[in-house]
Amino acid sequence: MKLQLVAASLCLHIMSLSAHGVEFVCEDNINEKDQVSQAHKVLWQQTLQYLKGVQEVLTKNQGCEVGPRAIIETNNGAGGVAKDCVVGYQDVQKVIKHIDLVLANPAQAKACFDTQKEYAEFPLYTPSAAMKAVSKSAAWIDRPTLTDFFKTKAGTIKSAGQELASTFWDILLQSQMPDYLAQDITAKALPDLWASVGWLPFYADNERALNERFRGGYAYAEVMGPWGLLRIKEIDGETVGAELGMTIQLRNTFYPYHYHHPQEFYMPLSTASCGQENTFFVAHADSALFTSAGDDSVTVAADEHKDVPAWFVPQSPNGNNFTYFERNAIHAFNVSEGCPSLPSGLVSLWGRTTSQDNNQSTQLCTLVANAGTDRHAMPASHYRCSPTQWQY
Ligand code: ZN
Repeated sequence: MKLQLVAASLCLHIMSLSAHGVEFVCEDNINEKDQVSQAHKVLWQQTLQYLKGVQEVLTKNQGCEVGPRAIIETNNGAGGVAKDCVVGYQDVQKVIKHIDLVLANPAQAKACFDTQKEYAEFPLYTPSAAMKAVSKSAAWIDRPTLTDFFKTKAGTIKSAGQELASTFWDILLQSQMPDYLAQDITAKALPDLWASVGWLPFYADNERALNERFRGGYAYAEVMGPWGLLRIKEIDGETVGAELGMTIQLRNTFYPYHYHHPQEFYMPLSTASCGQENTFFVAHADSALFTSAGDDSVTVAADEHKDVPAWFVPQSPNGNNFTYFERNAIHAFNVSEGCPSLPSGLVSLWGRTTSQDNNQSTQLCTLVANAGTDRHAMPASHYRCSPTQWQY
């Protein structure tokens, strides 16, 4: 009798799968209690909009038959920018496929979504009280604020963090999509999502990030991924590698050279402020730009006048707007001073494609000599980077 019941329930289960066609396996820490809240409803709708926007970014033809022609190295060692149609890469194809499956099966995917109001893994923040005033969802979730978080810090980390928190919403509202895209997924279009998603001041407590103004002036948030609002482990037995969200970096900060196993893409949503360009650099770890330092380590030593202008390229929504970093590619972001009277920073759409294999940690290169400026780690400082091999 018992066996028959099990068989009957299995049969029903399979029937429900075949009726819908797709099986979603969620991470095991989804809080089902808040799935009946109004905030859950609002954020789920805006998450679907966000995913439609990312789908368009990855698939709308812009220099390739499908998708954008991505910058894969800002300097290929011979002076030129290297580009490729990365939508052909297997990791990106899987991300597109999994976004398509979520959008085609929202009722099933929704079971893997919560607001992270009661998230036990690590603290997540809403930038400021002003952002809780903007969004009822953000007010209901009531995360601790970055304003309060940075009160506990000292010196430049504290002042930069407070500048970030107090200007966060203004910086977000200056965002714009590239003209060729139809979907708007900036904070103007999806205010609840940008105000309510859990933000992480990722480098505030990490001395390896070197620059205190950067350490206070940087945060990222995850919409979909192992640590985001939508946490899907597998779809139809296939591991979901997509990790999709957004980043913000305050004006006048340098994010020093770093690398990691998972591949990554960015699309800037901020234009230059007062004519000063935001710039970035990426090159493969075995690039001729670097010198070998033994043990698979490389030395990064850009000459300030000759190399830095050739290595770093401007980025904005309508110029150099999509970039893709291979595994272990060494990259850095230099956000301009901008106008002192106007809040500014660099807001980007951000994604990683293989968030469930190899080592997910972001590795920062070690400073071995600095160029003698007050930021103490600059594009032309000298660093050692020691990438480790990944497994397929
Ligand atoms: Zn990165």
